[in-house]
Amino acid sequence: MKSGAEASSGVVCLTLDVEPDYGRTTTTKILDRISPFLDWVAASRIPITAFVTGQLIAQRHPVVDQLLAAGVSVELHGHDHRAEGFGTLCDSHADEINCGTDAYVDRFGRVPAGYRAPAGVISAADIQLLASLGYQYDSSVFPVRRKGRYDFSRFPRYPFRWTEPDLPEFPVGLLFPRIPAGLSFINLLGPTLAAALIRRAAQRIRVPYVVDGHFHNLFADSAALATLPIGLRGLYAMGQWSGGFPGFRSLVDRLRQAGVKLAGLHEIATQNKATLPVVSLAAFESQAAP
Ligand SMILES: [Zn+2]
Repeated sequence: MKSGAEASSGVVCLTLDVEPDYGRTTTTKILDRISPFLDWVAASRIPITAFVTGQLIAQRHPVVDQLLAAGVSVELHGHDHRAEGFGTLCDSHADEINCGTDAYVDRFGRVPAGYRAPAGVISAADIQLLASLGYQYDSSVFPVRRKGRYDFSRFPRYPFRWTEPDLPEFPVGLLFPRIPAGLSFINLLGPTLAAALIRRAAQRIRVPYVVDGHFHNLFADSAALATLPIGLRGLYAMGQWSGGFPGFRSLVDRLRQAGVKLAGLHEIATQNKATLPVVSLAAFESQAAP
């Protein structure tokens, strides 16, 4: 999937999910604070793919134009992003996909290339729907078990292709066997250790390694934070202290200094997909209750 030089140093795709603050509030105040991040992304030419909720796109929220102006690819992250509607890997999320796709088509005049399901809850029916709508890839799978939602721990941990229908899947990479490469965990580890783990994995797997994050991992809003359960509040507060935007900048610098290639998921996803291992959608049927 990569040239020899790239394969030896590893390829990492940075992605962001753009959604209500902390993924569960009704506010988006954090999105008013992201200008320093986008200025840095544009100036440093960092390839990033953002999965944005259909609701933000339909509301004509300025974040969409701000992302595009910074050179960030904009794809779809469901529509409402309401936790009560996430369900499990056995459910269809057709409303979320169809409403989000309609909002995107209305704004951009075309179907998005990529999809990421809210909370990573994707089902066989969803993959079939995405393929029938003309999506070019999915990046929803976290190859771990999340009780009550999904168990993708026996699925491939790195990029593969669903068959019948044919759709490339770009799972979020793993930092440790049960810990995905999400910025919530990366913030807790700190940029030095996280960059070392990501670099080592990216060099080993010979396919792109996907990192996932949110703006609430980079910036904070104290009013929204106060509405969260106390455990989550502590997690995010600690993450801001050890990571946040400065930590993410340091992570990117360390990866680049180590020779890791940062690549846009969109470009990667639409190249050489024939070389990816295949997984039948029937694999969903053999999953135990999550
Ligand atoms: Zn989300």
